[in-house]
Amino acid sequence: MKKQTKAVRTQTTKTQYREHSTPLFLTSSFTFETAEQGKALFDETEQGNLYSRFSNPSVQEFVDKVCMMEECEEGVATATGMAAVFASMAALLQSGDHILASRALFGSAHQIITQILSKWNISYTYLESTATEQEWEAAILPNTKMVYLETPSNPGLDLVDLEMIGKLCKKHGLIFNVDNCFATPCLQIPAQYGADLVVHSATKFMDGQGRVLGGIVVGKKEYIKDIRFFCRQTGPSMSPFNAWVLSKSLETLELRMEKHCANALELAQALDAHESVKRVNYPFLPSHPQHTLAQQQMTAGGAVITIELEGGFSRISAFMKALKIATLSSNLGDTRTIVTNPYTTTHAKLKEEDKLSLGITPGLLRISVGLEHIEDLIEDFTQAAAISAQ
Ligand SMILES: *Cc1c(COP(=O)(O)O)cnc(C)c1O
Repeated sequence: MKKQTKAVRTQTTKTQYREHSTPLFLTSSFTFETAEQGKALFDETEQGNLYSRFSNPSVQEFVDKVCMMEECEEGVATATGMAAVFASMAALLQSGDHILASRALFGSAHQIITQILSKWNISYTYLESTATEQEWEAAILPNTKMVYLETPSNPGLDLVDLEMIGKLCKKHGLIFNVDNCFATPCLQIPAQYGADLVVHSATKFMDGQGRVLGGIVVGKKEYIKDIRFFCRQTGPSMSPFNAWVLSKSLETLELRMEKHCANALELAQALDAHESVKRVNYPFLPSHPQHTLAQQQMTAGGAVITIELEGGFSRISAFMKALKIATLSSNLGDTRTIVTNPYTTTHAKLKEEDKLSLGITPGLLRISVGLEHIEDLIEDFTQAAAISAQ
């Protein structure tokens, strides 16, 4: 069966009620038929659900689908994307280890690496996304344990060459961990390049409709085993309700991503041609500095565009005021088109020099392109560009 068929058809075993849509197991615990069964489940001579902090059928259904899509062996679902990112690091790193990461990271991932892991004597080195193979290799230290990166990055849309990093990690025995949130498994499969772990904020395109928070880490059995232990004890579990919502959403992920990407490319082209937009950044525009790499490792450019407007924050403010359809929110990956100014919102906590080195300027607008009709979106953004330029 093809992946799309499995995304629609994977579900928990049918119950005695012969339901068609997948059932929701909204329960905190599971019963034991006998005292002996309770004992057997706890000493793991019998496999089964005990308590929803450990496992739950609705959550497992979501995990099974993501493993299938990402071509990974096993996974653990978490309450949020950040819980997945944190668990993937905290479960596998220890005091004295070093983590090598691309500089262009989601704001909270940056805070975990620089403010939280550092408290436990886990050091880091950042590299530019565009660093060469020699530069990456030269940055590997004897105590380097993991390489962590995001491609395309939020919000700069910088790419990292997955094939190159995959080979380096293999050569040096490093754990290769990729945040695949922006591309989704529909556009890029990091495991095909040797990624050992893939993390997601399911809050974004996986839900795709702006309703629930969720996260997941999938990957090689040996690593997931430790991450599962970490999550079972520390408790960042995904709610069965959210898992049920997310599993239903995965049925339409491919369909939605196709439309998101088609809309984003058309909007990027229209804004690129507009005289009062200074610069448009989108991986599938030939003007993107890593356009060739984007075409190599992604099947489409994704749903996020950034544009740079002349006039800094006051221009952004006027632009946002002029928008009639797109909404102002810090979220992304919704059916509804959303804009935000990363400089003052999602990445506000970064140091000024870090912001500027990542291209996060006061005049930068991040657009998460939704599923509205493309003609309405082009009209909305071009009129806002023109009005705000006056
Ligand atoms: C939103 C996001 C996260 C964090 O996910 P939450 O579900 O908000 O915790 C991590 N990485 C990327 C790239 C994101 O966009």
